[in-house]
Amino acid sequence: MANLHGRHICLLGGDSRELKLVCALIDRGARVSCYGVPKDGLHPEAIAAANAKEACRGANAIVLPLSGTDSNGNVRVTSSPICITRELLFVLSPNAILFSGIVPRFLAAECQSLGIRTVETTANDELAILNSIPSAEGAILMAMQATPFTIHNSNCLVLGLGRTGMTLARMLHGLGAHVWAAARKAEDRARAFEMGLSPLSFADLPSCLPQIDIAFNTVPALVLDRSLVYSMKRTAAIIDLASSPGGVDFIAASERGIHAELAPGLPGKVAPVTAGQIISKVLPEIIAAEFAKNKPD
Ligand code: NAP
Repeated sequence: MANLHGRHICLLGGDSRELKLVCALIDRGARVSCYGVPKDGLHPEAIAAANAKEACRGANAIVLPLSGTDSNGNVRVTSSPICITRELLFVLSPNAILFSGIVPRFLAAECQSLGIRTVETTANDELAILNSIPSAEGAILMAMQATPFTIHNSNCLVLGLGRTGMTLARMLHGLGAHVWAAARKAEDRARAFEMGLSPLSFADLPSCLPQIDIAFNTVPALVLDRSLVYSMKRTAAIIDLASSPGGVDFIAASERGIHAELAPGLPGKVAPVTAGQIISKVLPEIIAAEFAKNKPD
C-alpha cells in the first residue's frame, strides 16, 4: 500500500467518488484538505477549507476529478464553483504536482511556468481499463434507453478500439449484437477480427454506416462528420463517449432526426460506488509514484 505520510494533498471538486478517495489518502497517512468535495460523508480527519485557495495553501499536490477542467480552468464536477487560476497555483508548496484526468493545454502551460508538474491520470492504463467497465455499461444503458429495439441482433458500430472501445465492443458482442469496430491501426483491426467482430478502417465507414443501428464513438476527434451522419438511418442512435466536444457532428444528427448524445462522466453516473472504489484503489498509487520521482524538497 502506498505510503503518503508527511504529504499534504488538496482535493478540488468531485462527487461521492472523491469521498472514497479522501478516505484512501488518509488511510495512507496523507493530510487532506478539500474544497468543492461533498461535505456529507467527508472523512472526519479531512480539512474542509473555506475556499479553494485555503485548501491549496502549502499542499504538495492538487487532485482534480477525472473530468478535469474546461478550457477556462473551471472544474467540471464540484459542489462549489472552482476556477484553477495562477493565483491558486501560486500558494502550493515548491515541487507540487497537479493530478487531473485531463489537463487542458492552458493549464499545463500555467503549471509549467510555476514549476508545477502535471500528471494526466487517465493516461494510466490500470485506471482507464478499470474505468472502461462502468463506462461501457453506461453507454449500453444509454443506447437501450434511446432505442425501441434490443441490442441483441442489432448492428452496432464502435469507433476507436482503445481501452474503452475494446471493453464496449466485447460487451456488445456478449449481448449478441453484430459489432463493427473501426480502428486506424492494423493490429487493432486484427484484434477485432480475433474477437469475432467485423473490423473496419475509417475509410470503410461510408459503406458500413447505412446499416448501423447504434454507433458508439470513443475517438476524441471528429470521426462522424456531416456526410457520414447523413449516411445513417434516421432510426439510428449515436452515443458519443469521447471527451468534450466529442467526435460527432451533433448539428447534422439533429437536422437528420437522429438521436445523438454526448455522454460524459458515465462511471460516476451509473456506478458511483464502483467508480469510487476504482479511483481510491489506483490514484493513491499513482500519486505516491509521482512523489517518488520528485527531487527532495
Ligand atoms: P484510448 O485508449 O486512448 O483510445 C482512444 C482510441 O481513439 C484509440 O483507439 C485511438 O487510436 C483512437 N483515436 C484517437 N485519435 C484518433 C483519430 N484522430 N482518428 C482515429 N482514431 C483515433 O482512450 P480511452 O481511455 O478508450 O478513452 C476514449 C475517450 O473516451 C477519451 O476521450 C476519454 O476521455 C473518453 N472517456 C469517456 C468516458 C465517459 O464516461 N464518457 C469514460 C472513459 C473515457 P490509436 O490507438 O490509433 O491512437
